[in-house]
Amino acid sequence: MNFDTLEKELSGKVLLDEHILKAYSKDMSIVEGRALALVRPQDEQDVLKVVRWANESKIPVVARGGGSSLEGESVPFDAIVIDFSSMNKVLELDEQNLLALVEPGVVNREFNKFLSQKWLFYPPNPGSWEISTLGGNAATNAAGPRSYKYGSTRNWVAALEAVTGKGELSWFGTRAKKSSSGLDLVRLLVGSEGTLAIFTKLLVRLAPIPEKRVGVIVPLKNVTLATNVVVALSKRPDLGISAIEFVDEKCVNALNSVYHSSIPECGAALMLEIESTQSELETKLDSLLHTLLRFEPVGEPLYEDDVDSMWDLRGRITFALEKIYGKQYREDVAVPVTNFPKLVEGVKELFSKEGMECVLFGHAGDGNLHLEFKHLESTKLHQILTQLFSLSVKLGGTISGEHGIGALKARYLNFEHSALALQIMKQIKSVFDPNRILNPKKSFDAL
Ligand SMILES: Cc1cc2nc3c(=O)[nH]c(=O)nc-3n(C[C@H](O)[C@H](O)[C@H](O)COP(=O)(O)OP(=O)(O)OC[C@H]3O[C@@H](n4cnc5c(N)ncnc54)[C@H](O)[C@@H]3O)c2cc1C
Repeated sequence: MNFDTLEKELSGKVLLDEHILKAYSKDMSIVEGRALALVRPQDEQDVLKVVRWANESKIPVVARGGGSSLEGESVPFDAIVIDFSSMNKVLELDEQNLLALVEPGVVNREFNKFLSQKWLFYPPNPGSWEISTLGGNAATNAAGPRSYKYGSTRNWVAALEAVTGKGELSWFGTRAKKSSSGLDLVRLLVGSEGTLAIFTKLLVRLAPIPEKRVGVIVPLKNVTLATNVVVALSKRPDLGISAIEFVDEKCVNALNSVYHSSIPECGAALMLEIESTQSELETKLDSLLHTLLRFEPVGEPLYEDDVDSMWDLRGRITFALEKIYGKQYREDVAVPVTNFPKLVEGVKELFSKEGMECVLFGHAGDGNLHLEFKHLESTKLHQILTQLFSLSVKLGGTISGEHGIGALKARYLNFEHSALALQIMKQIKSVFDPNRILNPKKSFDAL
């Protein structure tokens, strides 16, 4: 393949070095593909030119942020990778209207550090926030601990500039706080895993940092008790809780041993964030403690003033588990929070019936469970996933709370979506990307 003609058109670089292409042929899942070339665009015109060139050459294109996706979303299958690491500027900060205009390669944690100087923050904080980008977060509709209060990325993208698969550049959305004008294409594009359009700018909403934020780690006897506490806390808006995370004993031990944290020995723990004014904080913490005592915690709760460091630690669970158990298979399902205990019990039963170990954690306040288990051959894996997704859908849930569908979960989409819904998704794809240039064979496009 001759990429000379492409390179001549761009201000950014086209890289063909074998080692680089190998590194960009995978993400953080088990999926591996092949990158034909790597492009680092400087601006939206570069992106436009790559997509137009790709249409003419009939070569697919895959956008890439931090490459932290867990379902193979950013893995190229004989495609050009557009790496957004050079498009990483904050272009505008509108403090009055709580908006920021950013390039898609801005790293989430860095963005929040920058915003904190202005006493502002961008709420979706996935566990990967130290490495993932706002573009990747938008394309996967990422969520994080604070999504319990603030919702996932879809709530926080007001407008975006994007290049469609046909090679057309347009803005979608508005700066206004509300709008009843036409169809909401921003909500459609957010979460589309780079299959419909490539984002070149994002106008994101911001929130003011609360006067006080406190992290609380609650050690509990076992997983069952922990999931019941989650449901009890979800009925208490008066406590000012903005995040309810759940980790099992194996996670606690892995964090303590790999990252030298000091979570007390326990069967499971909850990590909470409380938001408050200074004057109400004590009352809220007292009420929280009072509620928790009913569930007989196995030690004193730990209080953490540097809450973002607590979320950094929480985000490293996967890396801690990997150090101890090796690379594991990861799953992500979500149900209404009141069914979270049933989901966890069902998953435990499923794995014990199969005689397999499984690690459990997740954004429990959102009813979102993550599980990790050893790699299996494909027939066995399919059996386990079939049971897992059937259980989640039966409990009113979804086969993916936040990690997306990518290359790994497409065959299970019909557990959750009707044949008509899937057909409409494919029709939408053909409007945005008739030549199937953008991230083909992912999600509904793999069906
Ligand atoms: C340790 C760890 C913890 C994690 N925790 C969470 C969590 O708490 N919550 C959560 O939601 N996810 C989590 N994830 C999954 C992952 O980090 C998220 O899906 C994240 O949003 C991916 O961002 P990224 O920048 O790495 O994107 P990438 O992996 O590079 O790409 C992801 C998808 O976005 C598309 N994309 C990237 N940039 C653009 C663009 N400019 N325009 C259009 N499409 C684009 C890609 O084509 C791909 O389909 C975790 C992953 C890891 C490894």
